[in-house]
Amino acid sequence: MELSGTDWSSEAAEGVPGVPPQREHLVVIGNGMAGCRAVEELLARDAGRYRVTIFGAEPHVNYNRIMLSPVLAGEKSFEDIILNTHQWYRDNGIELIAGDAVVSVDRAAKRVTAASGRSVAYDRLLIATGSDPFIIPCPGHTLDGVISFRDMHDVDRMLAAADAGGDAVVIGGGLLGLEAAHGLSLRGMKVTVLHLMPTLMERQLDEAAGWLLKTALEARGQTILTGADTAEILGDGKVEGVRLKDGTTIPASIVVMAVGIRPNVKLAREAGLAIGRGIHVDDHMVTSDPAILAVGECVEHDGNVYGLVAPLFDMCRALADGLVEKHSGYRGSVTSTKLKVAGLDVFSAGDFSGGDGAEDIVLRDASRGVYKRVIVKDDRIVGAVLYGDTGDGGWYFDLLKRQEDVSELRDLLIFGQAFASGGGAADPKAAVAALSDDAEICGCNGVTKGQVVACIDKGACSLDAVRAGCKASASCGSCTGLVETLLAVTLGDAVQSGPKTMCKCTGFGHDDVRREIVAQDMRSIPEVMQKLHWSTPDGCSSCRPALNYYLLCALPGDYVDDQQSRFVNERMHANIQKDGTYSVVPRMWGGLTNPRELRAIADVVEKFNAPMVKVTGGQRLDIFGIKKEDLPAVWADLNAAGMVSGHAYGKSLRTVKTCVGSEWCRFGTQDSTGLGVKIEHMTWGSWMPHKFKIAVSGCPRNCAEATIKDFGVVCVDSGYELSVGGNGGIHVRATDFLCKVATEAEAMHYCAAFIQLYREEARYLERTAPWIERVGVDYVKARIADDAEGRDALAGRFLYSQSFSQDDPWAERASAHVQHAHMAEFHPAKALTDGEPA
Ligand SMILES: Cc1cc2nc3c(=O)[nH]c(=O)nc-3n(C[C@H](O)[C@H](O)[C@H](O)COP(=O)(O)OP(=O)(O)OC[C@H]3O[C@@H](n4cnc5c(N)ncnc54)[C@H](O)[C@@H]3O)c2cc1C
Ligand code: SF4
Repeated sequence: MELSGTDWSSEAAEGVPGVPPQREHLVVIGNGMAGCRAVEELLARDAGRYRVTIFGAEPHVNYNRIMLSPVLAGEKSFEDIILNTHQWYRDNGIELIAGDAVVSVDRAAKRVTAASGRSVAYDRLLIATGSDPFIIPCPGHTLDGVISFRDMHDVDRMLAAADAGGDAVVIGGGLLGLEAAHGLSLRGMKVTVLHLMPTLMERQLDEAAGWLLKTALEARGQTILTGADTAEILGDGKVEGVRLKDGTTIPASIVVMAVGIRPNVKLAREAGLAIGRGIHVDDHMVTSDPAILAVGECVEHDGNVYGLVAPLFDMCRALADGLVEKHSGYRGSVTSTKLKVAGLDVFSAGDFSGGDGAEDIVLRDASRGVYKRVIVKDDRIVGAVLYGDTGDGGWYFDLLKRQEDVSELRDLLIFGQAFASGGGAADPKAAVAALSDDAEICGCNGVTKGQVVACIDKGACSLDAVRAGCKASASCGSCTGLVETLLAVTLGDAVQSGPKTMCKCTGFGHDDVRREIVAQDMRSIPEVMQKLHWSTPDGCSSCRPALNYYLLCALPGDYVDDQQSRFVNERMHANIQKDGTYSVVPRMWGGLTNPRELRAIADVVEKFNAPMVKVTGGQRLDIFGIKKEDLPAVWADLNAAGMVSGHAYGKSLRTVKTCVGSEWCRFGTQDSTGLGVKIEHMTWGSWMPHKFKIAVSGCPRNCAEATIKDFGVVCVDSGYELSVGGNGGIHVRATDFLCKVATEAEAMHYCAAFIQLYREEARYLERTAPWIERVGVDYVKARIADDAEGRDALAGRFLYSQSFSQDDPWAERASAHVQHAHMAEFHPAKALTDGEPA
C-alpha cells in the first residue's frame, strides 16, 4: 500500500462506511501503554464520541512493556504480552498506523505529519510518546553492541547477542538493569552489573534492602560492582569491554545501558508547547494548547514526572473523563513499587528517607532473608520498604494512601495485617506464653521453649545466663527477642538486664559485635545490621561510625571506608569550629618543619584570609577560619608543598611529639627527635577507636611529656622506657610502665604491637586510659611484653593494615579527578555531629 502523501484528514474520512461525518477526530501519537489505555478508557465512557487514529513508531500492536523482562528471560513470547490485537483496533474503528513515527505537529493547521510523509488533520491531539532511554555519552557509547532496554527491538538485539554467548555488562543497577541482567544470565551470558551508587535500586529501596538484593543476586552468579563509574566502552567498531574510572577493565560482547529515562518531549517542544521536565499538563491532561492533550511518561503534572504504570493509568482516567466532559481531574499519584526483581520480592511505597519526626519500625529475619521497615510520622504511615516477604505491601500502601491513624496498631504493625487485625494474639508476650513447650525457640542450636524455661527455672535470670546455660540466642541472635520475652514472662521484674548495648539500635554490646563480625566474616555495615537484627534501618550516629571502624580494623585492604559513617571533622579532613569555619593542621613529622612548609602555610593563611595561626600542644601549626568551600583548595595548596593531612580531626594517630634530644640538648641520651619522626612515619594514617597521641622524650626530664600520652617513650642511657595509657585531657592520667627495651627498632616494634592490641580490642570511642583501666595493665603487659610470638603477630597485623591506610586524604581529594565526587560529601545524607573538641 502506498502510504506516502495520503491525506487522512477528518474531511477525507467523511463518507467512510459506518463513520458518522460529524465525529471529531482524535489523533494519538504513541501506541504504548498510556496512549492505548487512554483510548480504552475513552471507549468505555463513550465509544461513539470520537473517530480515533493512533500513530506508533514501533511496528507492533500495543503490548505490555512491563512484560519485556519475562520475554528476555524466556518465560514468555511476544504473543503472550500483546494487550490489543489488530482485531481490537478493527472492532473499535481505530486506525492504527504502526511503524511510522510522527515527525511534526502543525498547531495552526491542526495537522500532524509522519516520517513517511503521511499527513493527518486532528480536532484533538493526544501526545503519549513515553520516554527515551538515557545513554551515558562516554567514549564508545555509539559502538555496535551498546543496547538500551526499552522496547521489543532492544529485546531482539539482546536475544541475538545471548545466542552468540559471551560476557555482558549492564550499566545501571536499577529495576531495568537488574531485569536485563537476570534475563541475560538466564540466557547463559556471564553478566556484570555496574552501578554508580553504593547500593542497588537506591530510589526504591533503602540501604538494607539494597544490600540483601545484591547478596542474593551474587549468590545467583552475577557480579555486582557498586560505586562503579564507567570511563569508556572499549572496542573497535564493536563492543569488546568496559573500562571503569578506577582502571578496572571488564570484557563484554554487549553493553546494556539502563541508567534512566527522559520524557520524550521532542515533538511537543518543536510544536511550541510549554515544557518543563516533561510536557506541562493541567489536571485534565490538557497542554498549553487547549486542542492538545498529553499523557504518560512524557508529561509533567504539578512538578512531577512518573515512570511506573499505575500513575499513568490514573492520568488516563482523568483524561478520558475530560474528553467526555466529566472533568474528574487528576491530582497526582502516590507511588508504590511491588516488584519481582529477578524473581526476588521487593516492595516500596511513599517516602522512606526518614528525617525529622519519622520513626522507623524494623523487623529483620536473617535466616529467612526478610527485611521489613515501616516509617511512621505523626501516627500515620509515610513509607514502607519490604524485602523477601512483600505480602503485606498492599495493606501498608492502603493505610498510607488513606492516611489512617495507626497508633492503636503500632506495636503489631510490623507483623503484618493478619497479626495486627487480631489474626494472631494481640499481645506479643501472650503469644510467646501460649507457645507449647516443644516449640523451637533457637533454630541454630535446636533449643525448645521447654528447655529455655527449664534453664531460667534453674536460676538463669539474664540473657547472658540463658545463652551460657542452654545456648539459646548464643549463635545468630535472631531469637534474642523471643528469649527476652520468655525471661520477662517467666521472671517478671526479676530479670537482670545484660551488659550495656552499643546503642538503642541493637541488643548487642561492642565486644559481641566485634566478635561476630570476625566469626561470621561480615563485610559491610548493612550485613552486620541484617545479621545482628538491628532495630533501625541504617543505624544511628553512635553505631554507624563504630561499625565502620570495626570493619576497617577487621578487614584491612578489603573493606571500603564508608565516608557517610564518619563525623563531620573526618569527612572534611579539618576541625569544625564554633563559627562554622574549619581549622586545618598539616602534618609536621615529629614536630619538625622547614622554610618550604612554613612558606606554604604562610601563603595559605594570606590567600584564604585565615584570621589566626596557632601552635598546638602537639607541636603543629593550626590554621583557623577556613571556609568549608575553600577546604579542597587549601588541601591542594598545602599538598603541593609536600605536606599531608595531620589527621588532627580523626579517631586516629594524631601527633608524635618530640623533644630536642641528643642532637642539640646537653642532657639528651638518645635521638628522640629522630625516633619520633620514624614512629610518626610508621603510625600515621592509622584509624583507631579514638584519638591517639605519642611522645618521645630524650631523657627523664621528659620535656615531650611522654608520660601523659597514649604511648610514651622516655630515652635513658641504657635504652628506651615504654609506657602506655596516659591522658592529658579532662581526667589526667599518667602512663603505666610497660617495659624497657634496648634498641630503637624494638621500641618501634612494641609500639606497633600495642597500637594493634588497642585497635583490635578497645571499644569505639574508648581511649587507651579507660581501656587499660578496664582490662588491667597486667593484661596488656602479658600480651605485649611477655608474649614474644603474640607481640610479633600483633605488630605484623598493624604493619599489614598500614600498607593500605597511608594514603593522604588531602592528595586524593584535592586532585581534579575526585574533587567532584568528594564535594558531594559536603552535603551528606546523614549528618553526624561530633561534640568532641579537637
Ligand atoms: C523493560 C521494562 C520493564 C518495566 N517494568 C515495569 C514494572 O514492573 N512496573 C511498572 O509500573 N512499570 C514498569 N515499566 C515502565 C512502564 O513500562 C512505563 O511506565 C510505561 O510503559 C509508560 O507508558 P507510556 O505510554 O508513557 O510510554 P510507552 O509505553 O513507552 O509508549 C510510548 C510509545 O510512543 C511511541 N512513540 C514515541 N515517539 C513517537 C512518535 N513521534 N510517533 C509515534 N510514536 C511514538 C514509542 O515508540 C512507544 O511505543 C517498565 C518499563 C520497561 C521498559
Ligand atoms: S627531655 Fe631531656 S633531652 Fe629532651 S629536651 Fe628535655 S632535657 Fe633535653
